[in-house]
Order: sequence, then C-alpha cells, then structure tokens
Amino acid sequence: MNKPVNANQEFQSDFLSVTEARNAISTLIQDIQLQAKRSDAMERLPLKQCLGRILANDILSPINVPATDNSAMDGFAFNSKDLKTDREQIHLRIVGTVYAGQTSVPPTQASECIKIMTGAMMPPDCDTVIPQEFTKSSEEGSITFAKDTVRAGENRRLRGEDLQAGKPAIQQGRILKASDIGLAASLGITELSVYQRIKVAILSSGDELCDMSEPLVPGKIYDSNRFSLHACLSRLGFEIIDCGIVRDTPEDLRRAFTLASQQADVIISSGGVSVGEADFTKQIMDELGEVGFWKIAMRPGRPMAFGSLKQISPKTSPTVFFGLPGNPVAVMVTFYQFVRNALLQLNGALKPEVPLVLVQSAEAIRKKSGRTEFQRGVLFRDSEGKLFVKSTGSQGAGILRSMSEANCFMILHHDQGNIAPGDWVDVEIFDGLL
Ligand code: AMP
Ligand code: MG
Repeated sequence: MNKPVNANQEFQSDFLSVTEARNAISTLIQDIQLQAKRSDAMERLPLKQCLGRILANDILSPINVPATDNSAMDGFAFNSKDLKTDREQIHLRIVGTVYAGQTSVPPTQASECIKIMTGAMMPPDCDTVIPQEFTKSSEEGSITFAKDTVRAGENRRLRGEDLQAGKPAIQQGRILKASDIGLAASLGITELSVYQRIKVAILSSGDELCDMSEPLVPGKIYDSNRFSLHACLSRLGFEIIDCGIVRDTPEDLRRAFTLASQQADVIISSGGVSVGEADFTKQIMDELGEVGFWKIAMRPGRPMAFGSLKQISPKTSPTVFFGLPGNPVAVMVTFYQFVRNALLQLNGALKPEVPLVLVQSAEAIRKKSGRTEFQRGVLFRDSEGKLFVKSTGSQGAGILRSMSEANCFMILHHDQGNIAPGDWVDVEIFDGLL
C-alpha cells in the first residue's frame, strides 16, 4: 500500500537518528576491539615522537611533585606551636634565610623563624609561613605579627600535592597533546608506551571518477573524496592505505574490498551507497560480511553503510567498514560525525569527543524538525566584540567550498525547528579538527 509521504514524514519511521547511528557504531567497535585484542598492540616511542599518539598505559609519577614541602609565599617560616599563646602579637627571632633551589636548610627552635622565598624548601621544624607583608620589624633580626593573620599550616605547599609518587599523572587512552609531552618530561620520563596506529584503507567508487593522471573528459569528475579523507586521516595520525578508484562492477568491488580487508583494520569508501546506486555494493557486502545500509535523519549525509567484513587471513579480526555517501561535503560531515570517534575508539582512545560551544546565530535559518543538520558556519565577532555564528551560504552537499570557507559546524539538533536571529545554537569548532 502506497501512502502519500510528505516532506516531514520522509524523515521518520525507517530513518535512524544520528544518536542511534552513533550508538550502533560504538557497540560494534567495542565488539571488534575485544576480538582484535587491539589493546595488546603497543609500541614504546621516544617522548618527542609521541605527540597525537594514544597512551597505552597509565603514566605513574615516579616522583612527588613538589618533591618537598615548600613555601607558597615570600615571608617567614616558623613552627605553628608558636601560635599557641595568649598574647595577641607573635614575636619571632630570624635565624637564617632560605632561597628557592637551596638544597639544605637550617633548623629552628621555638620562637625562631627563617626568612623564606617562594618555592624554597621548608625548614624541617617549620610548618607555617607568615607572608612578609603581614609582619613588622620592630628590632633588628626579628619580626612581629598579629596572631590572627595566619593559621597553622598556611602558605605551605605540601610534598606531592601536584603529583603523588606512584599515582597516575596521565591516564591510559589519552590522545597525547603538547602539555602531556611536557608533563612526562617534568617527571623525567624519556619514552612512552602508545598503541600501534590502526591501518585505514580508503577507496572511491564511481564510474564518473577520473584520476588526476587522466585527462578530464565531459561526464567525468576528479576524485576529490580520497584526498579529503586522506587529509583527515593524516591529521589524526592513522596509517593510510590508498586503494584508489574502484569501478561500479561486482568484480571490481569484490576484488578491491577483499584486498583492502586483508590489510586494513578499517575500510572507508565513498559513493555508491545511495538508493538506486547501492545494488552492487549491497550484493558484494552480503558476500563479504554483515553491513547495514542506513538512512540517517541528517543533512548532509543521509545514506551510509556500516558494518564489518569477515576476517580474511592474514588478519585475525573482522574489518570495520564505513560506506560514506559520495557528495564531497557529506563525506567530510559523516567522517567527522561518525568515523573520527569510531577510529579513535578502535585505536584505544578514551573520550575523543569534541566539545560543543553554544553561540548565538546572527541570522535566521530554516530547519526541519526530525533530522540533524550540520551546516557549515563562520564564527565571528561583531563590532561590539560579541561572538556570533553565521552560515557560509549555500549548503548543497556537493559544494566543498562551503566546508573550505567555514570554521565550524553549526549543529542543528534533531528536534530543533527554525532558528531566529539571536537564538542559541551548538557549534563544533574546526580548528585542529580538520
Ligand atoms: P553517489 O553517492 O555515488 O551517488 O555520489 C553522489 C555525488 O557525489 C555524485 O554527484 C558523485 O559524482 C559525487 N562523488 C562521488 N564520489 C566522488 C568522489 N570520490 N569525489 C568527488 N565527488 C564524488
Ligand atoms: Mg556513485
């Protein structure tokens, strides 16, 4: 029975929401990660080569940071027992000075103090520092201060208060950033264990695609998707296997996918997954593994295939397969909204999410409820310095310039409707992402 379908209905029933698609991907990735024992595949690298790699075990701090109790202020160190008196004014004799970096410190007796600089090691009998500005010097070689200006233990940094010896300083699963490299160096660590990089095969399918080595004839287009995917994957530090352009015939597709799954942990293809186009891809996927052909309630990027291809020797685990849509913008959007996190998760990263920022829209945007839209946006400040986001203009899925000119995705959520100027929208900033 054919019921009339209106534009809104089209995005319901057999459509997956973005969240449902993400959850399905995450579940399969966890499953494959267990089968592949990816967590065993690690290597030790010199610290300077670890940027962007994923830490394979907790870095335990071999030392206390700071290594000893030290002063948080310029002032005078003393023992807080001297505060236990009925007198309102405390009077202490100065018996020495200690500077930051000094490795031995003189002892003190009752009613004595030591002049101390910020970062200098606390004298053994002292637990409290009175800052210089709260003291008076009524006679040479001594100080006086009001008892209630300081409490026992104040202005002292405790040994191990930043990092405790034996406790995790950086946790396993972290994508190592510059500060992590510096932190490891501050602990005297010269090498780290990181997960081996997963191997990702990329290919483009379509009879209209033309390799750059061939002349462009009418009816053909250059294959750009493999290049944007290659760049996205390079940025994330994965090992890439470029399987080129594959023609839309069952033989070519079978050969290409078989070869790729022998070598790679993940295959990403683009094109050939939309209704009416997917026949051959579907046929081959039924032979080679278990792949769902999804319609996702999103724009751009509605059709997508996802699943696993059977393990083929010499591989010891199934290969994850992402069949992305062919349109160049849809490829990048689906890559960043589904594939990026899945690859990082497969490679052992914990919490690879990119934070969203809430920003006011500078303009009205038409948006249908019942699908998630990833519009290409530009974050900017107006003449008063207020932050806004606006669209890059035409949002066609084939207009790669809209990605190129954008500095963020404006994420218009599933249930959101039209946006009015000044409405708050979620934004995902590209910098460092693309
Ligand atoms: P498809 O999903 O295969 O129907 O492709 C959708 C649109 O994307 C068509 O206009 C294709 O020509 C285009 N397209 C597919 N693959 C690529 C590619 N590798 N590079 C650039 N455009 C592509
Ligand atoms: Mg095609």
